[in-house]
Amino acid sequence: MLVRGNVVVEGVATGKIQFLHMDYEEHLRTYTAGDTETEKEKYQQALELASKDLERLLASDEGLSESERGIMEAHQMLLEDVAFVEAITEYAGSGMSAPKAVLQAVDDFKTMFDAIDDPYLRERQNDMVDVGNRLLRKLLNIPEFSIEGEDVILCAKDIEPSIMAGLPEKKVKAVLLESGSKTSHTVIIAKSKGFVTMVGVELNSEMAAQGEEIIVDAVKGEIFLQPSAEQLKDFRKQVEQQEEEHAYLMERAQLPACTRDGKEVLVAANISSPEDMEKACEYGCQGVGLFRTEFFFMASSRLPSEEEQFQAYKSVAEQAKGDLCVIRTLDIGGDKHCDCLQLEEEENPFLGFRAIRICLQSKDMFKTQIRAILRAGVYGKVGIMIPMVTMLSEITETRKLIEEAKVELQAERIPYGEDVLVGIMVETPASVIMAPVFAKYVDFFSIGTNDLVQYTLAVDRGNQTVNYLYDYFNPAVVQSIHRVVTAAHEAGIWVGMCGEMAGDRLALPFLLAVGMDELSMSASQAPGVKEQIRSLESGQCSLEKILQCSETEEVRSYLKEFLK
Ligand code: PEP
Ligand code: MG
Repeated sequence: MLVRGNVVVEGVATGKIQFLHMDYEEHLRTYTAGDTETEKEKYQQALELASKDLERLLASDEGLSESERGIMEAHQMLLEDVAFVEAITEYAGSGMSAPKAVLQAVDDFKTMFDAIDDPYLRERQNDMVDVGNRLLRKLLNIPEFSIEGEDVILCAKDIEPSIMAGLPEKKVKAVLLESGSKTSHTVIIAKSKGFVTMVGVELNSEMAAQGEEIIVDAVKGEIFLQPSAEQLKDFRKQVEQQEEEHAYLMERAQLPACTRDGKEVLVAANISSPEDMEKACEYGCQGVGLFRTEFFFMASSRLPSEEEQFQAYKSVAEQAKGDLCVIRTLDIGGDKHCDCLQLEEEENPFLGFRAIRICLQSKDMFKTQIRAILRAGVYGKVGIMIPMVTMLSEITETRKLIEEAKVELQAERIPYGEDVLVGIMVETPASVIMAPVFAKYVDFFSIGTNDLVQYTLAVDRGNQTVNYLYDYFNPAVVQSIHRVVTAAHEAGIWVGMCGEMAGDRLALPFLLAVGMDELSMSASQAPGVKEQIRSLESGQCSLEKILQCSETEEVRSYLKEFLK
């Protein structure tokens, strides 16, 4: 039986499925409350036990990362927060049972956080629930969750961040969640622990029994239930190879990516939140080639303020420690929706009101983002990148707004980075054709193959029916890339790539031969790509031969020869 899900952390795993149910409802129904003094006392005991648990977790050598430690410390503070403790004690004193008093206080705090116009604080609601649940487990005598045995594949509707943080890395092989967004704390922690992770997985104990062996293929987004002995053998072998390769690559992750003939290619990270930087640095990424800032706007029901954006961009710039961080301006529209902008439904959204088109018609919003990016430029090397460019005026108008923003900041005596770079995504056929002209107006290009393929080949990137046509090895795309690199270098600017092609090891011989200066990808791909670059010569693959190919398969099979 096959179940599908969305891959968050790539990899393959085999192991015994363990379901995690935290059924508080059932326990609450059977709880017998005492008088007010007894309930207050029970709460005090629960508080002490919960606090000791957190202390133990923080003192243990479970290998908590910095961000996990930060979250756990925040939980400890919330648990002992005077207002929170008083609220629970008061509710218990007014006749509520201790568990109900905890639930009521958590609810009050959640409502309070919800009213604050700050996505970061709103996200803290989850921490409040997590802390409340920790108290509930103590009050209801629910044992703390523990992993049974080795090689566990954990399956749950959702997992609280503190439980995820306490999961032993050596025992858990994969995590399958029914809910969970990419920006939730739980998923951030799963990523930082390096668990093979999928979300959107609908799998319950009627489909597989607790302890049953399953296969997780979080490369293709597939889970095999009741696998055959043959399948298991095959996947176990893949897991072994994956572990050996990973250990080797991580040892070498911080080395530069220099070809055998001495050409260095920068390998940067694609990120969508400041939290992604921890792994980007650990995995040897040299700065950020694409910060998808849509994350702020999509996670919020109102436009994020300049200050909120500034704090996030500043954090990324600081964590990059002198390496360049390319911050892409809002790329909403197409398949990316956002409640805080009331955009009309469109027949053909990918060809509609998207990215720079929206920004140039909402100049206040655009300038707010530009100001936040410029201000972050004081804390590191920063670049502004414009998505979906099709016309020169989109670049010149943006540049005008950048200059206006600088004048404003100067007048307001707010420091900003004087030398913030301005570049564009080359992801439309118009920008490929106009590359020699556009190159004169910007500091860099970054090729976005995800959109370039869909617009060049007239293939919707999300449409499964025409998926067979979606291929960056199509000669039309290959020739476009060559044209863009040539135009950039003739104009004396650098050119990178931040679409999925940049992280594909098969594409590397071509990307080196064509002369790409930077490749940006999700952090987990970086060590492998860097190693591959170190094994190749920049001119090993003949650019001429590739450009002569007239079929996609011809390009692919020519490239395969280099990776044998
Ligand atoms: C791209 O189009 O290649 C790209 C990197 O941008 P996105 O996937 O965010 O559209
Ligand atoms: Mg794009």
